[in-house]
Amino acid sequence: MQLVRVTCRYCKRSHVYRPDDLIQIFGDVDVDSLMHRMKCEGGAGHGQLDVKGFLPSGSELVGLRIRRLAAIKFQRVPVWKDD
Ligand SMILES: [Zn+2]
Repeated sequence: MQLVRVTCRYCKRSHVYRPDDLIQIFGDVDVDSLMHRMKCEGGAGHGQLDVKGFLPSGSELVGLRIRRLAAIKFQRVPVWKDD
């Protein structure tokens, strides 16, 4: 199983995601384009994230915390028109 590690160089935060979760949000895109599309949760000004796909070994998987998609929230945006 391949995983994706996303690291913010600014706040040194690193999270591991499952590709199938990321596909739900970003579509079936390659890792390089995720770098431009993902934003650090710590702040929008943290710049480009470091995104790397990796294949964890058995020992690496032990204790590895994987960030799972809990929910996708959709924002309700009102659109007005004059009658
Ligand atoms: Zn950050």
